[in-house]
Amino acid sequence: MSFLYIIIVFIVGITFGSFSNAFVWRFHQNKSNKKKNKSYSIVNGRSMCPHCEHKLSYYDLVPVLSWIVLAGKCRYCHKRISISYPLTELFTALVFVASFAYWPLKFNGQGITLFVLWFIIVTGLIILALYDIKYMLLPNEIIIVLFCLVLLQIIISLIFFDKNYHYIINNIIGFVIGGGIFYLLFQISKGDWIGGGDVKLGALLGLYLGNGNLAILMIFIASIIGTLFAIPGLIKRNIGPKSQIPYGPYLIIATIVLALFGSSLIKWLISHGVYV
Ligand SMILES: [Zn+2]
Repeated sequence: MSFLYIIIVFIVGITFGSFSNAFVWRFHQNKSNKKKNKSYSIVNGRSMCPHCEHKLSYYDLVPVLSWIVLAGKCRYCHKRISISYPLTELFTALVFVASFAYWPLKFNGQGITLFVLWFIIVTGLIILALYDIKYMLLPNEIIIVLFCLVLLQIIISLIFFDKNYHYIINNIIGFVIGGGIFYLLFQISKGDWIGGGDVKLGALLGLYLGNGNLAILMIFIASIIGTLFAIPGLIKRNIGPKSQIPYGPYLIIATIVLALFGSSLIKWLISHGVYV
């Protein structure tokens, strides 16, 4: 694996991360400005400062570096620009590089097709996670687009890579387990522990992983990550049992880990006598 490829994938990743930031901001503005008849193009239009909406120049648009040079402040209104912007860009770039380095399939026709589709799907997932962290909501529109992309992947696999009916059954099992566990939690708690968006997200991610064992592992890993993140807050008593914690980002991180390392993890578990 050449160093040059890693640099290219890193730059592509940081660009997709920058797009995710702009997308989340514009999508939320459009959602909340519907009544005011003001709308921002999601694809076109120059990027702007989230506070003063001053259009940004090309030299303000270099991901991460612009933020560092301007010490996290807008060049025009001098208000603080959240560190979440450069962090999202770096995180996306790291996910892209890790995906390239640890892609479980060979880079032949099937591997490359699914790899490119993965970049689009994972960008959608990062957008969802970011939206959930910022606004405590998983928008239906984004979940539906992601469902279509995952179905496209399943159709491509079926038509071009001679998968059989076992493949479809496994996908359905992943979907039912991923969505079903959250649906139960949602019903038992009457929507107190988790939101309806988590049920849809669980089903979507289970369908993507395409396997019941992976869907269960996804929920297990997400719970561990969620607990680790919650401990400092519990100690400082910032969060109590009634606090709302966005669960979507943990599920999404768990899915990214399993998409890359899931089959090796299951092999390892079986070789150590764990029945899965
Ligand atoms: Zn500004």
